Amino acid sequence: MEWKIALAGNPNCGKTTLFNALTGSNQYVGNWPGVTVEKKEGRLKGHRDVVIQDLPGIYSLSPYTLEEVVARGYLVNEKPNAILNIVDGTNIERNLYLTTQLIELGLPVVVAVNMMDLVQKNGDQVDLDRLGGALGCPVVPMSALKGEGGQQAAEQAMAAARSGQSGEHPHVFTGSVEHAIAHIEESLEGRVDGRYLRWYAIKVFERDEKVLAELDLPETLRAHLEEHIADCERELDDDAESIITNQRYTYISGVVERSVRKKSPSHALSASDKIDRVVTNRVLALPIFALVMFLVYYIAIGTVGTWATDWTNDGLFGDGWFLSGGSGYEDDKGAYEEASTVIDGYLSAAEAAGVDVSAFSEARETGMPEPAVLDAFLAQTGDLETEVYFYDDESGETTTQTIAAADFTSALSVTEPDPADYGTWINGIPAAVGNWLESVGCADWLSGLVVDGIIGGVGAVLGFVPQMLVLFLMLSLLEDVGYMARVAFIMDRIFRKFGLSGKSFIPMLVGSGCGVPGVMASRTIENERDRRMTIMTTCFVPCGAKMPIIALFAGALFGGSGLVAVSAYFIGVAAIILSGIILKKTRGFSGDPAPFVMELPPYHVPAARNVLRATWERGWSFIKRAGTVILASSILLWFLQGFGYVDGVFGMVENNDHSLLASVGSGIAFLFAPLGFGTWQAAVATLTGLIAKEEVVSTFGVLYSGNLSLEIARAYTPLAAYSFMIFNLLCAPCFAAMGAIKREMNSAKWTFAAIGYMCGFAYAASLMTYQLGGLILGQVPFGPGTLAAALCLTGLLFLLFRKNRNDENHLTIHTAAPAAAK
Ligand code: GDP
Ligand code: MG
Repeated sequence: MEWKIALAGNPNCGKTTLFNALTGSNQYVGNWPGVTVEKKEGRLKGHRDVVIQDLPGIYSLSPYTLEEVVARGYLVNEKPNAILNIVDGTNIERNLYLTTQLIELGLPVVVAVNMMDLVQKNGDQVDLDRLGGALGCPVVPMSALKGEGGQQAAEQAMAAARSGQSGEHPHVFTGSVEHAIAHIEESLEGRVDGRYLRWYAIKVFERDEKVLAELDLPETLRAHLEEHIADCERELDDDAESIITNQRYTYISGVVERSVRKKSPSHALSASDKIDRVVTNRVLALPIFALVMFLVYYIAIGTVGTWATDWTNDGLFGDGWFLSGGSGYEDDKGAYEEASTVIDGYLSAAEAAGVDVSAFSEARETGMPEPAVLDAFLAQTGDLETEVYFYDDESGETTTQTIAAADFTSALSVTEPDPADYGTWINGIPAAVGNWLESVGCADWLSGLVVDGIIGGVGAVLGFVPQMLVLFLMLSLLEDVGYMARVAFIMDRIFRKFGLSGKSFIPMLVGSGCGVPGVMASRTIENERDRRMTIMTTCFVPCGAKMPIIALFAGALFGGSGLVAVSAYFIGVAAIILSGIILKKTRGFSGDPAPFVMELPPYHVPAARNVLRATWERGWSFIKRAGTVILASSILLWFLQGFGYVDGVFGMVENNDHSLLASVGSGIAFLFAPLGFGTWQAAVATLTGLIAKEEVVSTFGVLYSGNLSLEIARAYTPLAAYSFMIFNLLCAPCFAAMGAIKREMNSAKWTFAAIGYMCGFAYAASLMTYQLGGLILGQVPFGPGTLAAALCLTGLLFLLFRKNRNDENHLTIHTAAPAAAK
């Protein structure tokens, strides 16, 4: 037979930590409410016949929040064999409120007092025997984080499940209430599972609508019971629900008084409180948050991450790297590249001037041309002069220089340096694989597919994995330390100003890893309007997959500037805030935000395992996608960009400007021209970004062969690149996230509205950036585009500052049904 044990407890009491330890699974341990909305199942290690159920954290078994509905539904309908109730030992009084209700369910309950490490550190004492005696169930100590006592607690729960016996119900309520409950119990007998009798009776007493609907009692019986309840209310001069709540609290404080001894009730502030005084300070909170995020992105993209990514992009997925030695190679290689630029520039200028370059070019293919050939060529060019552009890899700057015949001849004498002469050189993957394919006599097209298509596309994405891991590591650290919970609290103050609550920030926080769980995390928001609005804006936060886009452009055009990367994050946050202000003034979203109650867990030293696990999980899903979706679409893209019609004949094309892909891209590129990136490549990349955001980068990897950063720097001005980045950060998310939006919105209309809104917002933001920015910098002439941008700006300002005409609707919002009623 299969045994079912349910883990129940308040949010943040350590259920998931215990669940992971008991089942060996990898569920997300979060430091805020709402992370575990769905219940998770796993099998107890070493006992395949025991199923452990991780329930969402709840404070009570009332049906008011989604978490409560899920947990209560499971406990009442699925009838687990035992409940393992996790109690936060540092906060026993509040936790017992749920415990007393769990006991009333009539199932075997074992209470595990968690965080015993903290209890001991605080110097408090918990008399577990006395506590168990008062509650009428076994009570065991535990420290889930330290891995102490979890196994024993599970075994106790198993023993309780096997015995199938629940303890004596503790005497929680006063005589008259117990009397009424006893009456109700009597009438319900036979109508409900005998074990749950007391729980149902208490719920009927409280007039719990869900339970009353479920029981569907005959009218006369209902009226009869109502009399008993009303009697009791009259006697105690309070309404039934409050009577139960108050008496429960009275009972609990009695129990706590007898079994818990706090070390001198000190009034001194704990270290956490002291930190919070600064970190959540009204004035300092925001600058500190901005600084923290700045550091996170700066380190991830600007410093540590860049170093790692440079190696993967230029070494592993580039030409190669030096195992040892190598000094001087970079300089010589730079000189050679400059010389090549001079030669190519001069040749094309000569060709443009009508000089026949074929003889010279042909001779050059087999080595240095004979002096006679060179002289003949130079005789034709005479005093031809032309401008060439040099691109500096390090700073991302482009410089121009005028060259003449003399520069050309001296450039010819520069030979390509062979890295092997400078030290131990390891070929990068493209070179190694390319050489190997050549040595086995592989067809040109196939080696093109492998090197340019597959390695180019997948490698372009994988190259950013180190940066991403650094980013995820830091975000996980901040989370586990407890800082992110503070941020939700800080953001609540700001969000509230324009009508959202801090609850909306949690999905955004989760969304900085991936938009899909981010959108899903919006489930805990009870207010339907706030929930929709949160879903619509969550994907504005740059998710992990958008990182490579940011990193690519920051690296190619802004010298790897951390500032550009940080700005991407804050553009996302600004987009959310602006959207909040605009949307709240529309009819569909107006209303006051729901109150946001959140407990700030004390800061603690992060658990290496949690942090590494969270980092790895986020990173791994990224790598997995590179090996599947990205791989498949890179192959497809390579074919589409390699074939096309030339002069009416279908075949492989020399220049991918003539490819099928180019015709598709050119077809929509006009849409993006006003945004500054009207190339077919950018259009295609934006489209493929819908498959997965990493695709944007991998598409560029396939389309621009050679050094990606260099090609990007040649093809886009910094302003156009920034505009491209903004558009791709804010526009419709990937299909997976759109799917999540559709599931959570549960309406085609709202799904389209959300995606349309994101695209529209992104377009307007890019248009304003490119056109108005360009006008100021003198790079874009005044024209229809500028006019459209100015209109956008006016419209935006109007939407932002218009009077909120829906203010008078406030009252209707307060009566909005809670999520449970859906
Ligand atoms: P859940 O919300 O009940 O699932 O709680 P989690 O398992 O997500 O844990 C919430 C936080 O409490 C995490 O930061 C854990 O690292 C921390 N935690 C869990 N158990 C213990 C414990 O025994 N001691 C201490 N000090 N921290 C713990
Ligand atoms: Mg949890």
